[in-house]
Amino acid sequence: MDEFSFIDSIKQDVYYQPSVLKGIGDDAAVFRANNQDIITAVDTMVEGVHFSRETMDPLHVGYRALAVNISDLAAMGAVPAFFMVSIVIPDDWSAAEIDEVYSGMKQLAKEYRMDLIGGDTVSGKELVVSVTVFGLVPPDKSRYRSSAQPGDVLFVTGTLGDAQAGLEYLLGKHHFYDEAAAYFIGRHRQPNPRVSFALQLQALERVALNDVSDGIASEANEIAAASHVDLHIIYEDLPKVEYLGKLEKETCKPWVLSGGEDFELLGSVPEKDWAAVQQAAEASATRVTKIGWVLETNDTEPFVYLYEENKKSLLMKSGYTHLRQDR
Ligand code: ADP
Ligand code: MG
Repeated sequence: MDEFSFIDSIKQDVYYQPSVLKGIGDDAAVFRANNQDIITAVDTMVEGVHFSRETMDPLHVGYRALAVNISDLAAMGAVPAFFMVSIVIPDDWSAAEIDEVYSGMKQLAKEYRMDLIGGDTVSGKELVVSVTVFGLVPPDKSRYRSSAQPGDVLFVTGTLGDAQAGLEYLLGKHHFYDEAAAYFIGRHRQPNPRVSFALQLQALERVALNDVSDGIASEANEIAAASHVDLHIIYEDLPKVEYLGKLEKETCKPWVLSGGEDFELLGSVPEKDWAAVQQAAEASATRVTKIGWVLETNDTEPFVYLYEENKKSLLMKSGYTHLRQDR
């Protein structure tokens, strides 16, 4: 298929968003934002680095490439609106397979009423899918990781460690029985961005949010550093599905703390707003769990503390923990 008919094949006939003035078909796309802040993010998936044919079908590659970007929009409190796709196509990927990649994206785009408004197509050595998203937020309602304050309740959506469990299974490094395996594989291949939960929080004055892409150990440290506060997390309170809870701790703990790619939301709110967060969770059918709290830091460099069987340790960005008796 030549480039022209390829672009024609992925072009939408109608756009969901009335604010699109020009989608695919000119030198660039145009949309009009009516007094909204525009949120934009980009994430790239490279074959052999972020996925392989052994662990993902072409449809999953597309689905996941868009899902991880939508998760960034959710973490900013934005309504997803548009996306653009830059794709590098190698010789060993057929036109039908590339079509499947786009099907995966379109499946999710339909759910969020997102329009594909442009992109770029080139050939190269391995498949690279780079997705840029645009979302909209009412003025000054973007959610920053720098917004946490001492006294806040710390919470996380969904469950942790699932995507890593799925990947371990797909790589043959760990065995699960059918039902658990299917669940974990789904969590790895088709993450569910927490958009509706984040939007339910829009009435709240102050919410800090960060999405769990590298593991909660990493994201918690990002919030601590950006907000200049200490975070205190109770390991036993971190939400895990039953299948994981039954595993040996040495297996499960690294997945929960630093497995990453669960694309849940880690956040903090003033204690008075915790009830509103629980209502938001209910309204969006999202599990939410209180996992700790935010305190003032005494250090020049803030820390994340992990409590486990009442022992207190430092939780490093890498997920590594070590005891510190002096604190
Ligand atoms: P230009 O030479 O002006 O960059 P292109 O031939 O690259 O134009 O693209 C033509 C149109 O098709 C543009 O609207 C562009 O955004 C869109 N487009 C090209 N490749 C893709 C793609 N992989 N996905 C989505 N839109 C694409
Ligand atoms: Mg181009």
